[in-house]
Amino acid sequence: MADTASGAAYDAIIVGAGFSGLYMLHRLRAQGLTARIYEAASGVGGTWYWNRYPGARVDIESLEYSYSFSPELDAEWKWSERYATQPELMAYLNHVADRFDLRRDIQLDTRVTSARFDERSNRWTVATDRGEAVTARYCIMATGCLSVANEVAFPGADRFQGETYRTSRWPHEGVDFTGKRVAVIGTGSSAIQSIPLIAEQAAQVTVFQRTPNFSVPAHNGPIPEAVLEDWKRNRAKYRQEARDAGFAIRMVDGQETLAFDATAEQRQAEYERRWGIGGFALMGAYGDLIVDRAANETASEFVREKIRSIVKDPATAEKLSPRSFPMGTKRLCIDTGYYATFNRDNVSLVDLRAEPLEAIEPTGVRTADHLYEADAIVYAIGFDAMTGALGRIDIRGRGGVTLKDAWAEGPRTYLGLMIAGFPNLFIVTGPGSPSVLCNMAVAIEQHVDFISDCIAWMGERQAGTIEATPAAQDAWVAHVNEVADTTLYPQANSWYMGANVPGKPRVFMPYIGGFPAYRDRCAEVAANGYEGCEIRSAASVS
Ligand code: NAP
Repeated sequence: MADTASGAAYDAIIVGAGFSGLYMLHRLRAQGLTARIYEAASGVGGTWYWNRYPGARVDIESLEYSYSFSPELDAEWKWSERYATQPELMAYLNHVADRFDLRRDIQLDTRVTSARFDERSNRWTVATDRGEAVTARYCIMATGCLSVANEVAFPGADRFQGETYRTSRWPHEGVDFTGKRVAVIGTGSSAIQSIPLIAEQAAQVTVFQRTPNFSVPAHNGPIPEAVLEDWKRNRAKYRQEARDAGFAIRMVDGQETLAFDATAEQRQAEYERRWGIGGFALMGAYGDLIVDRAANETASEFVREKIRSIVKDPATAEKLSPRSFPMGTKRLCIDTGYYATFNRDNVSLVDLRAEPLEAIEPTGVRTADHLYEADAIVYAIGFDAMTGALGRIDIRGRGGVTLKDAWAEGPRTYLGLMIAGFPNLFIVTGPGSPSVLCNMAVAIEQHVDFISDCIAWMGERQAGTIEATPAAQDAWVAHVNEVADTTLYPQANSWYMGANVPGKPRVFMPYIGGFPAYRDRCAEVAANGYEGCEIRSAASVS
């Protein structure tokens, strides 16, 4: 790991050493620039460093959820399962850090506290919680979309006498729940992945559900040799097919046919076929599932029927059946045995809509109706998504304007990559980009390539600063909203909308126009000399 470097001057500072930061560092160094990563964790890996709960694994097949920038890396790494576990993903990202000799420019255990733009020098001053301050021409926020956990704000939570865990900050040494009564609060992806495994170990598991989610089986398992061989032969083609797919996931195999162009029997057969494939394939069945409520309802009801067929107790099955939002408008959960877990004698479900959670008591969780005693509580209550990590850093652009003020009404960006008034600052997978609505690995590579190319272009012209114009940013924000409004997405109280954090402005944050359309727009912007950006000369640079 790199030593501290207070006072040093870099071409670029990168915040975060996850999928984004690692590739960003690799690209910038290859361009001959000096760059340094600051990372708050004690290791590389970003989201995969922190989310170590039982059952944590990727929800996109690993053959696609991995870097494609290096054919050599791609060829030499062998994934063992369709959906890699958190430890395997960590092994992969550590391998990447070693293979590309990235560690010498990564400083771990260091949280960036502020980033301020100085208009006289046209440089960013980046300060850390270790009392260092360095300067850089460019500042790149590779801080992740799901890196700041939601606050545990239940009354009495600090008085609980048992053990308390957060899925997003799981102890590295693991947890042994043998013989324990465990309360799990939340039923998002993190809970849905961890509950089946906790239930295998614990004496009793009580799941506290506020909103049921749609979950589809992963059908995880070893990747057959024939599939690996096929990928080896067709790697470049398949990677390109992923980039050309709406969600940047090739295996979704998205169709344009409309749901009601098929008969009820045909739809049923198609949903069955895709349920059998597992994962996000179900969402690709028809082209109108995310835009037409009635079409969506056919797929939603298919999943509810599956829940009824798996869960033996009809009352529990009904509680688990989502009815308050269209399928897919909250990220689909991908599970291994989630619904069947509720057939176990040691698992019970509490519907918080029927009996709201009132407080955490020293001995357990109290709802309006009962006190559920517990030895351990697992909070799986989600993240301050997409803007949370940026909000924690005191970011100031031209005129000392804070990002907090600039985004008081919700995030505003140009292409999810740049912010008007914040020169030479880039965000990877920021609000206004497809990011979380698609394969993050593909989205990240495209962003990093755009940013690196832009920085190279600036260097060739010896230009000083680049920033989005307010007009281009306004137009992009309007476009993001316009596209979102043609879909069912805004109908869900999702973290995409900021609806899961009390007081957060409700804005649909990711771009739903599809990855290929977004990528093409970015390419067009670059080809037109970074259209929509103001480029100032370096004349004033000291
Ligand atoms: P999440 O989807 O936001 O789920 C949080 C859960 O906690 C929800 O069920 C929510 O209920 C509940 N909750 C929050 N505040 C609550 C409160 N005050 N009282 C009662 N319940 C409360 O968070 P997550 O499960 O960590 O997943 C977040 C995202 O991370 C996913 O959508 C996905 O993109 C990613 N992820 C992916 C994987 C994977 O499979 N690779 C695994 C984990 C996470 P409401 O729905 O009612 O708000």
